Amino acid sequence: MSPAPLVIAVDGPAAAGKGTLARRLAAELGLPYLDTGLLYRATGRRVLDAQADPADPAAAEAAARALTPADFARTDLRGPEADAAASKVAAIPAVRAALLDFQRGFGATHGAVLDGRDIGTVVFPQAQVKLFITASAEERARRRHAELLGRGTATELALVASEMAARDARDSARDVAPLAAAADAVTIDTTALDAEAAFQAALRIVKSSQSK
Ligand code: C5P
Repeated sequence: MSPAPLVIAVDGPAAAGKGTLARRLAAELGLPYLDTGLLYRATGRRVLDAQADPADPAAAEAAARALTPADFARTDLRGPEADAAASKVAAIPAVRAALLDFQRGFGATHGAVLDGRDIGTVVFPQAQVKLFITASAEERARRRHAELLGRGTATELALVASEMAARDARDSARDVAPLAAAADAVTIDTTALDAEAAFQAALRIVKSSQSK
């Protein structure tokens, strides 16, 4: 029997450096990469387009089931409004159920690196490598603020910090698939690490899991 394809789960709170790290790991290892947050962002956007409330279960489930590739190419999936809508639709069990098969199918055949909140706990509990990427709330807010400014969005650090705290609280407190480190995840705190150091730390963990 051929070995199971390599799946690497990268979970953690907002702006901890998951996306950058997961993308680099995927490129290094020749694996497909999926940013699962985009699924929730695109769902939230569709609900907003329909002038509905992202917390409305029926509207949000319909939006999740109607997603097409064009939804992921939108240029308005980042920013405070999309962040909040994503985390509201993400708390709805029917939305998560609607998006589960796609995520599992993505990694099933060729393996993958997926980043999100529940990859190691729910989507791929059998993933061979589970990383939980975190950083202090202050550092994460500082990074997101710099990212927004870099994209030309004028905003204040205190506002970014409070919106991020609200989103992390919603993601951690929800009943279904809350943000959590899997029991067998390895945590990397990137507060004092640059992207290169975080990548090297993650690569060491992947390589040591492969040599077992
Ligand atoms: O990772 P990103 O910040 O793009 O995710 C946006 C939102 O989507 C998160 O705040 C969270 O509510 C939701 N999400 C989730 N489960 C995932 C990925 C994202 O609930 N696997």
